[in-house]
Amino acid sequence: MTGTLYLVPTPIGNLGDVSRRCAETLAAADFIAAEDTRVSLKLLNHLEIKKPLVSYHEHNKKESGPRILERLLAGESCALVTDAGCPAISDPGEDLVRLCAGAGVPVCALPGPCAAITALSVSALPTGRFAFEGFLPAQKKERRARLERLKTEERTQIFYEAPHRLRETLAELLEAFGPERPLSLCRELTKLHEEILRLTLGEAVRYYESNEPRGEYVLVLGGAEEQAEAVSPARAAALAKALIAGGMRTKDAVKQIAEETGVPKNTLYALVVSEL
Ligand code: SAM
Repeated sequence: MTGTLYLVPTPIGNLGDVSRRCAETLAAADFIAAEDTRVSLKLLNHLEIKKPLVSYHEHNKKESGPRILERLLAGESCALVTDAGCPAISDPGEDLVRLCAGAGVPVCALPGPCAAITALSVSALPTGRFAFEGFLPAQKKERRARLERLKTEERTQIFYEAPHRLRETLAELLEAFGPERPLSLCRELTKLHEEILRLTLGEAVRYYESNEPRGEYVLVLGGAEEQAEAVSPARAAALAKALIAGGMRTKDAVKQIAEETGVPKNTLYALVVSEL
């Protein structure tokens, strides 16, 4: 019988956030796959758990993943942890989950700390619909293209960012979304210096002109204003004809409806006169 891959979330700052089930799962697993074994060892020492550790990270996943899969297929169980938070969410693990699922190995995800969800819940922005964007691409051209596509995104958006890139990222967000867009800057969540700043993009850029970015950040950005539903040319023509039937001159009716609906005047005029 094959073993199970357990995805075990770990605290994003406060060690008290490790759940009893996570600790029990770590203690029961045959071995633990960790992003940085030194970081995970601190947590395991805190929990007084002794377990064989193997390393699984971005730069060795191609070799390490198949070795872990082999052990799972042979019946061992593995707990996957990363340095902090939920494995596979902007963290190593996504590929291992796919590898295991594809090979028919059961994958069991335990709920627990995740910086994105913690920030969203405290942001005071709409939480009903949101888009997780993780880290923006490192290349400037790709970052620009990503932000361009997000300009009309109406859902609340969540970004991860490192302190040394915060100022540059805020400047790019300002350029893409304008100074009035609401932003919740969630810093050092669950830690001693936790700070939530709820402001606009313009205010955030000004704030960090005189304050040094420090610690870990999640940026929660309010969505774009809802776009008015586009009116089809046929519907616009029907609206214009209703005005004409009410006694308005064709030219005036076309002008008014073109302005209200955004349908070009020439298109609308051609449609209206062809049907009069
Ligand atoms: N998988 C993790 C999770 O689900 O929370 C995220 C890992 S990602 C490599 C690390 C990023 O998460 C950081 O750069 C930061 O943007 C965010 N982050 C992690 N811990 C945080 C904290 N305590 N406060 C604010 N942001 C945090």
